[in-house]
Amino acid sequence: MTYQEVYRSVLEELKKQNIADASSDAWILLEHITGMDRTRYYADGEKEMPAEEAGRFLELAKKRASRVPVQHLTGVQNFMGLEFAVNEAVLVPRQETEILVEEVLRTVKPGMRVLDLCTGSGCIAVSLKVRCPDITVTASDISEEALRIAGKNARALGADVAFFQSDMFGQMEGKFDVIVSNPPYIPTRVIEELDEEVRLHDPVSALDGGEDGLYFYRILSKEAPRYLADGGRIYLEIGHDQGSAVHVLLAREGFREIRIQKDLAGLDRVISGVYNRHNKN
Ligand code: GLN
Repeated sequence: MTYQEVYRSVLEELKKQNIADASSDAWILLEHITGMDRTRYYADGEKEMPAEEAGRFLELAKKRASRVPVQHLTGVQNFMGLEFAVNEAVLVPRQETEILVEEVLRTVKPGMRVLDLCTGSGCIAVSLKVRCPDITVTASDISEEALRIAGKNARALGADVAFFQSDMFGQMEGKFDVIVSNPPYIPTRVIEELDEEVRLHDPVSALDGGEDGLYFYRILSKEAPRYLADGGRIYLEIGHDQGSAVHVLLAREGFREIRIQKDLAGLDRVISGVYNRHNKN
């Protein structure tokens, strides 16, 4: 069979199985297996696809049809224009999280100390360091396996990030100008209603935000002041319906200038605030 024929049969199969982004996923898998770009595909599409390559392509397509996320098949996900390695130990970086990074980039200045909690794949910490090399970036996660992936990503992308293992602020020392986090924020009972691609393949520990989804925001708003320099800022990704609840938590702990940013779908996505010591009464 030719490249085109194999590609088309994969595309049909993915569509039949109601895979949302069938054509882009079929393409990503073909590219992953053959290293082909579009230009080469249009030039060589009618050539015979080597049987061994076709076999591996069909194998991955079968897994994709059974709803294994494409990122777990290729082992990578693009985030902020950078390629991050992922596996089942980390949350696959989401496009919405780029809004969080963009928000931090808007105000961060050379020389600032930035802390990323619940770093997972390291996508936030590493892309901040790549985009703004003159800041100091520290990142932590509770999971040793996640930290291994994050460290690998930092090395591959040439980002000097200090990683360490910590349950939230447990092992933390020092002061930071910016604290950023995309913590787990799905209410526990909602997890079983999530699409199986998320529910079965992203680590539950990266999703589960406790009974009301706010468990980590409580810790963040309460503990962050101790680790923020005066006038330091916090930036958190939030679920679409968590804006007012997290606003209340931050305000109660003395954060001011609290702002909520929406994502492209018009949903609340990022909350930020500043901490001035004299505000706290
Ligand atoms: N910080 C990582 C990300 O944004 C992981 C987040 C998480 O595991 N909740 O992708």
